[in-house]
Amino acid sequence: MTGQVLVLGGTGEARELAAALVTEGVDVLSSLAGRTAEPVLPEGPVRVGGFGGAEGLAEWLAEHRPGAVVDATHPFAAQITGNAAAAAGRHGTPLLRLQRPGWQPQPGDTWRHVDSLAAAAEAVAGFRSVFLTTGRQGLRAFADLPGRVLVRSVDPPDEPLPAGATLLLDRGPFSVADELALMREHEVDVVVTKDSGGHLTEAKLTAARELGLPVVLVSRPPLPEGVATVATVAEALAWLAVRGLRPPGVAGTPRP
Ligand code: NAP
Repeated sequence: MTGQVLVLGGTGEARELAAALVTEGVDVLSSLAGRTAEPVLPEGPVRVGGFGGAEGLAEWLAEHRPGAVVDATHPFAAQITGNAAAAAGRHGTPLLRLQRPGWQPQPGDTWRHVDSLAAAAEAVAGFRSVFLTTGRQGLRAFADLPGRVLVRSVDPPDEPLPAGATLLLDRGPFSVADELALMREHEVDVVVTKDSGGHLTEAKLTAARELGLPVVLVSRPPLPEGVATVATVAEALAWLAVRGLRPPGVAGTPRP
């Protein structure tokens, strides 16, 4: 073992990675933004709160000198991902982006990808009953929607909601049966989501498929260039093993 692994977290994959490293006795520190009132904590040591931009993170890396950083933040957490790339680049700290794949449509799906929350709002403006599952940030983009809008988020949004909004505070994972019941109860006729990927929140897509509802997906922000990227925890573990930061033995090859 040559040093600490900093895991930038806030996702199920980050928790899975931290748990695997803790089990192996690796010196791992998970970092959370501190946005969620009652976060699901990873195993092992955790620090909470921003670093103070790319500059602050660069200073943190200079002081703590971890052997590697794994950026396992959410696919839409573009700010911290950009900061990690800039800060790690400055210090030559090995950096890996762990990002799960986006969702893939199945036969029968009516999906439309858009580039922004504003474009998603435009795409659903003509619907009677919209199910908004894009998280609490950026909801003001939907503030002028004229119809009924079911807004689901983990914590209360602090942005204006549409006049016809019903707010549901809840945290996944959700079952397909629960999603079906919710969509039927609210007579949802279109679902809006970020293309977050992963299994924890994909039941809404299965439910939409079963009900024949269209889905509007906001596409992911681009990844920073030149950062090694993997899609699975197993691949991240393999990358760390290659750097002598954990015992070898798990298959997986990082792209590029
Ligand atoms: P963001 O816009 O990319 O980041 C905003 C600021 O929050 C960053 O500049 C950084 O502050 C701080 N930050 C973010 N992640 C951090 C981490 N893991 N450790 C320490 N500081 C962090 O991020 P966001 O979209 O607000 O998401 C915040 C967190 O929630 C992320 O960790 C992400 O994994 C998780 N999350 C996000 C979403 C989503 O849809 N965006 C969904 C589920 C979970 P400083 O500049 O001060 O360092």
